[in-house]
Amino acid sequence: MRIVAVREKTVALAAPLRNASISFAAMTASALAIVTDVIRDGRPVVGLAFDSIGRYGHGGLLRERFLPRLMAAHPDDYADEARGMIDPLKIWSIVMRDEKPGGHGERPGAVGLIDAAVWDLAAKLEQKPLWRLLAERFGDGAAEPHVAVYASGGHYLPGDDLAALQDEMKRYLDQGFRRVKIKIGGTPLDHDRRRIEAALSILGSGAALAVDCNGTFPRERARDTFLAVAPYELAWIEEPVDPLDYALHAELAAAFPTPIGTGENLFSAADARNLLRYGGLRPDRDLLQMDISHSYGIPEYLRILALMEEQGWSRRRCWPHAGHLLALQVVAGLGLGGHEAAPDASSLYGGFAAGVSLADGQITPGDAPGVGIERKDNLYAVFRDLLD
Ligand code: MG
Repeated sequence: MRIVAVREKTVALAAPLRNASISFAAMTASALAIVTDVIRDGRPVVGLAFDSIGRYGHGGLLRERFLPRLMAAHPDDYADEARGMIDPLKIWSIVMRDEKPGGHGERPGAVGLIDAAVWDLAAKLEQKPLWRLLAERFGDGAAEPHVAVYASGGHYLPGDDLAALQDEMKRYLDQGFRRVKIKIGGTPLDHDRRRIEAALSILGSGAALAVDCNGTFPRERARDTFLAVAPYELAWIEEPVDPLDYALHAELAAAFPTPIGTGENLFSAADARNLLRYGGLRPDRDLLQMDISHSYGIPEYLRILALMEEQGWSRRRCWPHAGHLLALQVVAGLGLGGHEAAPDASSLYGGFAAGVSLADGQITPGDAPGVGIERKDNLYAVFRDLLD
């Protein structure tokens, strides 16, 4: 089996949303297609991947560095002889050749995108859903078919008002979500408190609501926020402070009982190790949200899980960032706790693949081969010109 072509493009994701840290008005993502010489039903078998949200596309890194290494490799270098397939772990080593350790920056997202397409390809070649392939190779083989998800919303919108926020919460409950996360930190604390109370008036209990500060608070504002929200007994506070300030995480975790969710802006096992060593996080309540696609893909994520388990963490404390289709497959295949979901199916990174339905806050990944990009119409449309 040989990879005969790799095609990529940058896609605009412009949306009138903002959080406490950034606007999404100029956001982009990369789409990638890996084409093989294996022909099924008259067409080549192709692996597809689409970036996770929030770090922009990776076109330059892909074109100048990582894809040339992949295309220069001999098919024997990435063959999985036992299965007569490709070996995603070998491809990962090929694209990471001559990369120094440390300094992870944006490189992990480019490599994670290639890795996602390779796993999609591997699963299609075996005519299995990716979650099943992962469960067989790295899980206990008995993958949990029900995956908990929560709706990620409550962004600051133009003309932001509390009634609109309440309508949004009602929509998510009607869609089948049972837990929602909203943004805070983009307005003064008093207004954010009113946003929390407006959301709670619809959701009922604090356990059904999390808040996301997007890593912006200085120390005092973070402490004030933890104090202000303590009575609500929220599910968690996400990225209260700079995601790389481990000592400040440790201070907050020691001082306040509310669970902390963090990790979506750590992109490597080395960064995860520092968080676990120095972040003072609590294995009985805190959430680790590293994004598989942003973090060098599945091989690195397996290293992160190994580090966590060494330190007494259950993989059920892992709730990966972003509602991409890959997250569902990995969470189901590796038996993680659940994942974030973007509820707006009209956006490229929102909703689920056809055949995946949401009920009582849970989804099942289904048995169709691969990751499922072909089964989300508006996302698959992005790939049409890459596949002609
Ligand atoms: Mg977040």
